Amino acid sequence: MRRYSAFAIAREAVRYHQGWERAWRSPAPRPAYEVVVVGAGGHGLATAYYLARNHGITDVAVLEKGWLGGGNTGRNTTIIRSNYLQDPSAAIYEKARSLYETMSRDLNMNVMFSPRGVLMLAQTEHEKRGYLRTAHANRLQGVATEFIGPERVKELVPIINVSGPRYPVLGALWQPRGGTARHDAVAWAYARACSAMGIDIIQRCEVTGITQERGRVTGVETTRGHIGAKKLAIVVAGHSGVLAEMAGFRLPIESVALQALVSEPIKPAIDVVVMANTVHGYMSQSDKGELVIGGGADGYNNYTQRGSFHHIEETVRALVETFPIISRLRMMRQWGGIVDMTGDRSPILSKTPLEGCYINAGWGTGGFKSIPGSGWAMAELVAKDAPGPLAAPFGLERFREGRFIDESVAAGVAH
Ligand SMILES: Cc1cc2nc3c(=O)[nH]c(=O)nc-3n(C[C@H](O)[C@H](O)[C@H](O)COP(=O)(O)OP(=O)(O)OC[C@H]3O[C@@H](n4cnc5c(N)ncnc54)[C@H](O)[C@@H]3O)c2cc1C
Repeated sequence: MRRYSAFAIAREAVRYHQGWERAWRSPAPRPAYEVVVVGAGGHGLATAYYLARNHGITDVAVLEKGWLGGGNTGRNTTIIRSNYLQDPSAAIYEKARSLYETMSRDLNMNVMFSPRGVLMLAQTEHEKRGYLRTAHANRLQGVATEFIGPERVKELVPIINVSGPRYPVLGALWQPRGGTARHDAVAWAYARACSAMGIDIIQRCEVTGITQERGRVTGVETTRGHIGAKKLAIVVAGHSGVLAEMAGFRLPIESVALQALVSEPIKPAIDVVVMANTVHGYMSQSDKGELVIGGGADGYNNYTQRGSFHHIEETVRALVETFPIISRLRMMRQWGGIVDMTGDRSPILSKTPLEGCYINAGWGTGGFKSIPGSGWAMAELVAKDAPGPLAAPFGLERFREGRFIDESVAAGVAH
């Protein structure tokens, strides 16, 4: 694989860009692999990448029913932060955030990581107490956040209305090194790096069944035939329950559609990410100038990857209170993705009742930010058949033992 560099851009510029090679190979599936990863979203691709990079396992296929990055990875609002309350969450999200800092260099592709800072507004006394508590917890965890007052919020976001009619801004939890990254680029960067290390990424290959012998996984049935596997990693976000059923076990997960929308592009107006959980909406501005706006999740379980009018209305109505300038903007596009929600709003990185089969799921509304950390931890789990320190608290057994990792406040609004 040729390296991307300033020199390569200059070279191709004089050649009318005829010399770029494909970013990843598209091979036919081989009869069997040591590890099959189902799902070429960010988490599946990162799992494959760290299997090769950290554990030297390259006999790996990543199977994707659509196109890589076409699931939630390509549908999210790209917020990256690690200001969670519980220690296991802070550890895995901060690992991920720190990997984002060097991702462009590590993967030799510009993922446009922009640590512009994330503000989570406190708009009720209750919320303020919650965020003060999180700021204290973060200090103990070594995660750099602070609780700031409304004057500082106004300084950081001049377009905000801090004395809103219903919910004045009482302060905010501020993570200066949180931010955003280009979601497609993250998937593409991992795919390119995986392909360069010999991993097969097979698109348009849906897994329709899981084969097993005496309680151990032997492979998968797919729309492109049977593919053998010594180990199987299920990393399919909103479809986790469907795949678990194929493997013969059940998951404590609900699948719901989560929606987002973007406005028409405008001149630079806001250079941080703002989340307003009480009124329920959040916003950042993309490099193209569009306001990227996150809405809520549907109130019922479903598998539709669509937006709906009532969510646009609800979300925009809520945000207009805090950002009056958006009342005049036209909204351009809306969409939905299927997210996988656990009861404690924390993920599952776990062995399963089927030997050799592992699951990575339950990132719900907030798994874009965790892609590198999750891939790192999942690769270790698959390679060693035992979770490392990052994954260990997130095993399936916690639901049986009642040892929940409650992040319902941190994940209260979409991520
Ligand atoms: C509107 C919206 C906004 C969001 N905003 C944020 C945010 O700002 N910050 C944040 O951190 N997170 C956010 N999220 C959550 C985040 O997008 C997800 O948690 C994360 O992308 C999940 O990644 P993944 O790789 O697990 O799943 P996906 O990207 O969904 O990948 C799973 C893949 O599995 C494939 N698949 C499914 N079934 C099969 C099968 N049978 N065979 C083969 N392949 C299969 C799918 O096609 C899909 O490509 C948001 C989500 C949505 C929907």
